[in-house]
Amino acid sequence: MLSAIVQCKCPRCRKGDMFKYKAYEKITKHLEMHKTCPHCGFDFEPETGFYWGAMYVNYIFTSAFLVAYIIVYFIFKPRSVEGYALIGGAYLLTIFLLWPKMNRYSRVLMLYFSSAASKFDPRYWS
Ligand SMILES: [Zn+2]
Repeated sequence: MLSAIVQCKCPRCRKGDMFKYKAYEKITKHLEMHKTCPHCGFDFEPETGFYWGAMYVNYIFTSAFLVAYIIVYFIFKPRSVEGYALIGGAYLLTIFLLWPKMNRYSRVLMLYFSSAASKFDPRYWS
């Protein structure tokens, strides 16, 4: 399952790709998804606006990086403005470079969490 999440595969069959392009292939279209799984037909958008919640998952990623860089700050304790700028700049560069990946993994985790939760919800049993 972890490998399917890392490769952005369908939560049901774990074979079909969720996204049309690779993360850095077409940067403006990195979030374009298939409407349904090309392999099993699983609906990737259970309801309109489903992926708004992925924004909060992305917020968790960004916050985790911030905490990591705060730890780096306390390890090195820079004494100059350049030291602050270096750590702050490294944080911003990390967020900038990983932005497409974080956006995608937010959606993937959102869909995996939702489909795992729906297994316990009788409304989705069929
Ligand atoms: Zn599938």
